Amino acid sequence: MDREHIFGARVAVCLCCGKKFLYYHEGTPQKRCPICTDQKQARPSIVQKRELLNYYDGVEIVSLPSKWEHMPPKGVRDDSFFKMTIKGSQYGADWLGRIDIFASEPFKKEDVISIREMEVKHEIKIKKKTRQTMKYGTVEIEEEFPVTTAENDVESIIRSRRYLRFERSEEFQTSHMVYATAYTKITLKGLGRQFRAVVEDETCIASWTIYGGVRSGRAHTTGVLAIVSPDHPLIITKTGDIQGEERYE
Ligand SMILES: [Zn+2]
Repeated sequence: MDREHIFGARVAVCLCCGKKFLYYHEGTPQKRCPICTDQKQARPSIVQKRELLNYYDGVEIVSLPSKWEHMPPKGVRDDSFFKMTIKGSQYGADWLGRIDIFASEPFKKEDVISIREMEVKHEIKIKKKTRQTMKYGTVEIEEEFPVTTAENDVESIIRSRRYLRFERSEEFQTSHMVYATAYTKITLKGLGRQFRAVVEDETCIASWTIYGGVRSGRAHTTGVLAIVSPDHPLIITKTGDIQGEERYE
């Protein structure tokens, strides 16, 4: 397959560096590659590489984890877009994971979309420091700086980040996008109801997970954004004082 036309991506030649690059939006063709754009706008990090990891099409939205935030255009040629971010921290101080979604429109229930899972590698600068903590003793932390920093003793590193990009699709609906949560609560015996909820997402077409809970571990929530179909369901199994099975397909 011709990689330059893969999945509707558009190819352009950068006006600054002359290299070919891919971009994924409709409308005015992009004139500069992501690296030259970042440099020109003196952004705090420089995109080194943007890679398409997975592509799904014909996905009908059933539920989404949060509300869209409208991001107005920054430069003359930048298009406005919509963003949704969900972090495990919304379920508790002991948390893991985040899901970032970018979209050309504020998609809602019953819209049929295509989804690109992207990985972007950024160059940033860091300074390593040690810090004393009560719990873990001496730990090494990384303080981040923009690539344009005048700070001494910083080193360049590449940090990678994943995100999802939604576009409207003309394909027939073949799968569903759902957001589901599994809440577990463990109390001391005799102090109220207790239950466990386990997420089984290995059968899903794709899934992205976040987690958050109290530091004691007695109450926690797993949030799962998943692409499912009758053959590839998401199942949440509950045991304890509240029993049952939730099936999303
Ligand atoms: Zn360039």
